[in-house]
Amino acid sequence: MLLPEQQEKLSELRASLSQSIKREFPENQLIQFLEANVWNVNDAKQQLIDTVEWREKVDADHLPVATKYNGLPSLVACRGYKYVQDVNFVVHPIMSESVIRIANCVGGDCFHKFDKEGHPILIDRTGYHNAKDMGNNVSTLEITNFQIATNEFLNRVIMPEGCELAGKSIHSETAIFDCTNMSLWQFHMNALYHLKAIAEIVQHYYPETLHRLFIVNAPSAFVVMFKVIKPWLNPRTLDKIHVLGKGYESVLLKYIDAENLPTFLGGTCTCSHMPGGCVPLIAQKSKDRFVATEQNERVPTVYNSTTMKAALNDTLLCGALPNTP
Ligand SMILES: [Zn+2]
Repeated sequence: MLLPEQQEKLSELRASLSQSIKREFPENQLIQFLEANVWNVNDAKQQLIDTVEWREKVDADHLPVATKYNGLPSLVACRGYKYVQDVNFVVHPIMSESVIRIANCVGGDCFHKFDKEGHPILIDRTGYHNAKDMGNNVSTLEITNFQIATNEFLNRVIMPEGCELAGKSIHSETAIFDCTNMSLWQFHMNALYHLKAIAEIVQHYYPETLHRLFIVNAPSAFVVMFKVIKPWLNPRTLDKIHVLGKGYESVLLKYIDAENLPTFLGGTCTCSHMPGGCVPLIAQKSKDRFVATEQNERVPTVYNSTTMKAALNDTLLCGALPNTP
């Protein structure tokens, strides 16, 4: 529930927007941008206008996302959702070659169920990322396209279920970065610049999409890297980051039910029905890596050009969900 003064700011923002932009904004979105700007109406308005312009420029509304209804292959592993089946990343002919190259650098990522409040949980095997390959073999455009596709997927396919569960607007995720296996060779400058490009897009055009970020099993070397990253993050983002030491399991269990948290993070979930369990580790050995075929086009978009073009006229490809009560 909004406080009376917040309600006032909301009306003020709506009135001010109607004078400069011919478009209706859902209340949730207005609140999201107001929260991101500490309820400053002018700043929220400017960020919304920038976001609308940016979304038109990249045609974000027509980017295809995987659902169980359109059968597009998912770019990230998923567990326990209504609108997308449990999946792992597997090479599919309609994916672009760049997505397969990115998958080979990622240690393992999974959207895994919900926390106690209805925020989807993203678990990332940060310590297994091949940052050097990511920095040297992936372009900034490819990695930012991948991030935008992941954000659109999260917002259109997973968040709606979070809202249903919580009975209120849910627009942010709980993320867990597991640094097990992390070592100094991963602190690769090019990879950190990718991270900077991603942080800029997410903080500006997808504000308030992070609810909490827990960093667990971090080695002392992580502190060095975190000093480099810190200035790129705004204070509101930094407030949401919790670097946890020993005993992190009990903190995670405060926010996440044991059955929704993998055993390797202190919960009871094993996802034994899926190869790789809760968060499959992506093999870093060359013989087990994903291999692109001739069908996977060398384009910076996440899917091949035919699918990208088809999505311009096909709402199902853009993640249309059935109407739910
Ligand atoms: Zn699981």
